[in-house]
Amino acid sequence: MNSMFSDVLNRLQPYTPGEQLNDKRYIKLNTNENPYPPSKNTLDAIRANTGESLRLYPDPSCKELTAALAEKHSVGLDMIFVSNGSDELLAFAFNAFFAQKTVSFPKITYSFYPVYCKLYDVAADIMDMDEDYSIDKEAMSRNSNPLIIANPNAPTGELLSDTYICSLLEKNKERLILVDEAYMDFAEQKSMADYVNKYENLLVVRTFSKSYCLAGMRIGYAIGNKMLINALNTIKNCFNSYPIDTLAQKSALAAIKDQKYYDNINKKVKATRDKTASALREIGCNVLPSQSNFLFVKFPGFDSYTIYTKFKDLGILIRQWDYIHDYVRISVGTDSDMDTLFLIAKEIMQK
Ligand code: PMP
Repeated sequence: MNSMFSDVLNRLQPYTPGEQLNDKRYIKLNTNENPYPPSKNTLDAIRANTGESLRLYPDPSCKELTAALAEKHSVGLDMIFVSNGSDELLAFAFNAFFAQKTVSFPKITYSFYPVYCKLYDVAADIMDMDEDYSIDKEAMSRNSNPLIIANPNAPTGELLSDTYICSLLEKNKERLILVDEAYMDFAEQKSMADYVNKYENLLVVRTFSKSYCLAGMRIGYAIGNKMLINALNTIKNCFNSYPIDTLAQKSALAAIKDQKYYDNINKKVKATRDKTASALREIGCNVLPSQSNFLFVKFPGFDSYTIYTKFKDLGILIRQWDYIHDYVRISVGTDSDMDTLFLIAKEIMQK
């Protein structure tokens, strides 16, 4: 029976996504979705494209969306690559740049990176972190392997400065650095996309899932020099010619044109994040500084699984990992979501 399966399959350890319980009883703070809806214009663009033209395949090169993204980031059309969520893009990047090599990333970071290592036969050079889960910048600088940095880091929320990342890019121009900016729009810092014209060894990965409220449409994109983008296109065209469906392309295009709406709601998310962090600290929780749309929180005296269960029993889903025993990750919801969360947190801490 086993002979039916490939050797690759035997070594895989699939990613476990956060629970998607379609159950209205829960306040869902476990997968860093935006608590606000897409803008009216974005939803109208989706509705306007649900007609008979759906019998046609989507534009395989995402021309309109690519042009809008190139304009947004002031880069050439050949410096943008659009994907079905940034997870797909990361998979293509592993295949194109890291397969059969060694890649470095911090010990606690986005847990899909080790999964892709197994899938694409990549050796993981996992960089230890300090006790407070901060990134060991010296180790990162010493190392010369290709590097993946989630910036801000997930699930810790730490932000590395653009000057520091530039110093790494400068130090070794043969070292490819992939910066995963899934949460960058919640940080007070400019995107590394501003540096792609300067550094050929930089690939910036972004998503519409968080700051553009479109997790359900699955749209990610990369910004980088032409050679890197060509490489991603080669992998994509060996995999699926049409990964981004018509509705996804139209929704992302409409969202970019409605930037003011998204800036506004993301400002609200950041204010709610900071307010919640202060309130949780006041009742004795350890909350790491976050430049993201989530908080990494420790409830002293409780392990992470106990905290996850207590919140779930009372109707709030948060994220917990078996290999992180002290901290849980809490996505930032609306003010009202976070008020409910705070009441439960207070009760836990009073016991
Ligand atoms: N990178 C990081 C750091 C993430 O947390 C996520 C979301 N789970 C992704 C990439 C993937 O996001 P998406 O596929 O929705 O674009």
